[in-house]
Amino acid sequence: MNIEEYKGLMVFAEQREGKIHPVAYELLGKGTEIAQRLGIEVTAVVLGSNMGDELKELFHYGAEKVYSFDHPVLADFDLLNYKHNIARLINEIKPETVLIGATHLGRSLAPRIAAAVNTGLTADCTALEVGDEGNLIQIRPAFSGNIFAHIRTTTRPQMATVRYKVMQKLPRDDSRTGEIVTKEPEIIESVLKIVGKESTGAVNIAEADVIVCGGRGVKSASDFDLLQDLADALGGIVGCTRPIVDEGLMPKERQVGFSGSTVKPKLYVAVGLSGSPQHLAGMRDSDVILAINADPSAPIFKLADYGIVGDLYDVVPRLAAEARQRS
Ligand SMILES: Cc1cc2nc3c(=O)[nH]c(=O)nc-3n(C[C@H](O)[C@H](O)[C@H](O)COP(=O)(O)OP(=O)(O)OC[C@H]3O[C@@H](n4cnc5c(N)ncnc54)[C@H](O)[C@@H]3O)c2cc1C
Repeated sequence: MNIEEYKGLMVFAEQREGKIHPVAYELLGKGTEIAQRLGIEVTAVVLGSNMGDELKELFHYGAEKVYSFDHPVLADFDLLNYKHNIARLINEIKPETVLIGATHLGRSLAPRIAAAVNTGLTADCTALEVGDEGNLIQIRPAFSGNIFAHIRTTTRPQMATVRYKVMQKLPRDDSRTGEIVTKEPEIIESVLKIVGKESTGAVNIAEADVIVCGGRGVKSASDFDLLQDLADALGGIVGCTRPIVDEGLMPKERQVGFSGSTVKPKLYVAVGLSGSPQHLAGMRDSDVILAINADPSAPIFKLADYGIVGDLYDVVPRLAAEARQRS
């Protein structure tokens, strides 16, 4: 591999139901900063069907060129065909850096692309920097979040998945335009099909403005109905800590934290959860945090803006009733 041949930075712009996922705009924001420092081009690649003006949106947020693979088979995420065509593009245009959002889809796609183009991958980055020699320094928590590892890739492209809501997108600039390059997709018969909305991560907790998150203080799956009731009253959705997922009480896409989703809602109601470092890693940037816990020394109270010391089985229904009365 001659690494000198690799030039430019490419963002995989994920789409769902024809809309570009916001993480792509965040990656373009960071990508533009890196590209300006190195004097290289920022491109985006989109796989979809009839994406129309959505492609142009990418220019408004920093892309200089958009590679578009358009085919009905690519309308929904198709692992084999997405991987195959992105790997072909990488081998053709040889970007030195490829950034992919660490969404459910991106986490499943990125390692397969990396293997196909014979390079390394740093998963779940929370920061990216440019090193002295122009290398990408990929920063991510390690050892349960106790240290931040700085990782450098010696092969090309340098590939990283980056968490949603940790990078800043650029302000939208209507005057920015660029070139759309239409690529002919190679479609191979896929054995895997999306069979329902759940498998695309239809519950997108990272997008929610209000999250009512339950921890081990919630004793059973049916007790989560109490949290759902409060979430409904506040116009939010229910999340959970990792032990709740491990015990099979809630699906993985509801998990907030280091090994789950990073969230940044306007209101985060932490119910019966202690506030472990791994949980805080995923929600500490919430605008307002309200904690409900029976133990006044629970660490979550140190971060919370408001706290209620009490039994969640008493407090949560009262809060829900109060919220309903006021709405
Ligand atoms: C590599 C790694 C990754 C991890 N990733 C994640 C992650 O992404 N997300 C995550 O959440 N965890 C993660 N964890 C697990 C994490 O370390 C903690 O174990 C977990 O966050 C604790 O969950 P909890 O707060 O629900 O439970 P606990 O720590 O057991 O807390 C339960 C809380 O409920 C309170 N309580 C009990 N009953 C009531 C009641 N009736 N009313 C009010 N309060 C009550 C208790 O006072 C206590 O504070 C990870 C761990 C590792 C090692």
